[in-house]
Amino acid sequence: MSKIGKISSFQSLGTVDGPGIRSVVFMQGCPLRCICCHNPETLGFDGGEAISVNELFKKIIRFKVYYGKTGGVTFSGGEPLMQPDFLIEICKKLKAAGIHIALDTSGCILNDKIKKLLSLIDLVLLDVKYYDNESYKKNAGMSLDKAIEFLSYLNEQNIDTYIRRVIIPGFTDNEMSIEHINSLKEKYPCIKKVELLPFHNLCIEKYENMGLEFKLKDTPTPTSEKMEYLNSLLK
Ligand code: SF4
Repeated sequence: MSKIGKISSFQSLGTVDGPGIRSVVFMQGCPLRCICCHNPETLGFDGGEAISVNELFKKIIRFKVYYGKTGGVTFSGGEPLMQPDFLIEICKKLKAAGIHIALDTSGCILNDKIKKLLSLIDLVLLDVKYYDNESYKKNAGMSLDKAIEFLSYLNEQNIDTYIRRVIIPGFTDNEMSIEHINSLKEKYPCIKKVELLPFHNLCIEKYENMGLEFKLKDTPTPTSEKMEYLNSLLK
């Protein structure tokens, strides 16, 4: 019998999580608690829907015709690294079917099992959330060092990587934040693209429905001028 995993939701076709048109699988469960998290429903390990590798594979393969040359599937979350056995099994099948696989992760775990999983991944969307350890610890519950250790491994293995950073006013919307990304780009040639994502608080309702407080509820979305300016600083 094929392995069982837990997913929070399945988006049949999306265009914002990796190149081209992609199906996105939101895996259930995350060990972090980022103050800016837009998907609070994916965090708990007891929520979500149980699904077998074969069932999920069938769901994905139905959309293969839409992926074209550049699209494929993206595993996001939650934190996909929390279900490595399930992902290793499904990624083997997807690879055999010629499907491009992207992994959207915080890079919070790196062990032999994760390394095996990474050997099956075509593209990593690595969230490098803040530019210093203190903010990382306070606002995400992990260290910057861990994310860099992960990035360094991706570079060693020549795995294509997109760096993503949410631009949060008062936290990451400054020159230092972009200089940090530029310095990573210079050091790690595996980085093929940088995506600055404007923070927004559209998830407030989800938090309210779950009886949780969204700590950034009063934080505004950065202006398009600010986003343009920060993008112009990228090398
Ligand atoms: S790593 Fe992602 S899913 Fe987990 S808490 Fe942070 S933003 Fe949310």
